[in-house]
Amino acid sequence: MIIAIDGPAASGKSTIGRMLAEALGYLFLDTGFMYRAVTLAALQDGVDLAEETAVAQLARRLQIDVAVVGEVADGRHYTALLNGKDVTWALRTPEVDANVSLVSSYLSVREDLVRRQREFGRRGNIVMVGRDIGTVVLPNAPLKLYIIASAEERARRRWLDRQNQGHGNDYDSILADVVRRDQFDGSREHSPMRPAADAVIIDTTGRPVEEIVAEILGRTSNQ
Ligand code: C5P
Repeated sequence: MIIAIDGPAASGKSTIGRMLAEALGYLFLDTGFMYRAVTLAALQDGVDLAEETAVAQLARRLQIDVAVVGEVADGRHYTALLNGKDVTWALRTPEVDANVSLVSSYLSVREDLVRRQREFGRRGNIVMVGRDIGTVVLPNAPLKLYIIASAEERARRRWLDRQNQGHGNDYDSILADVVRRDQFDGSREHSPMRPAADAVIIDTTGRPVEEIVAEILGRTSNQ
């Protein structure tokens, strides 16, 4: 069984995906972290982000992994590893937010990461979350969800996350980033963010997450 979940930034798709995976005993893969890892590595190495070839060459050399949380109880949902180093929080900075859409618009970067994502998919029993999972990465997934929420609610959730992580944040700049990123991700040439024709669209605005998860679990038992 594979559940493919897509949708715009901070729509609740990762929280919902993680809860579904936990309830079903499936693996959870949040593919956004891979695009963030390439962006972080390029920023750290001083690679010009406007140079697709240089970014793609760097990406191919990177070891990108996830590990289960284990001992660390700092609000993380998984541990992201870049070349063996824990970069879980380094992936969530405004600098990565501001640059990740450009990096993810490059076809050569996408081809590399999609190949890695499909390898995870072959293990089966997985909930995979992103922007193009139902349309490109796993088009044969039997259950596809497209999770949306109003831009204001998404920005408020992101703002709360950041507060809880101890980072002071300005709501207006988060809202601006969310809107800008969605526009970029939805209008790019390669694998633009959009629902698959057979995706179930779920609006999470003003709805408790537990209710939505219960609704989706009801659908999985009908599959
Ligand atoms: O989901 P998250 O906000 O962490 O994703 C960061 C960025 O990675 C997105 O804004 C998008 O540009 C890119 N992404 C993508 N395809 C995916 C997952 C993420 O292009 N499957």
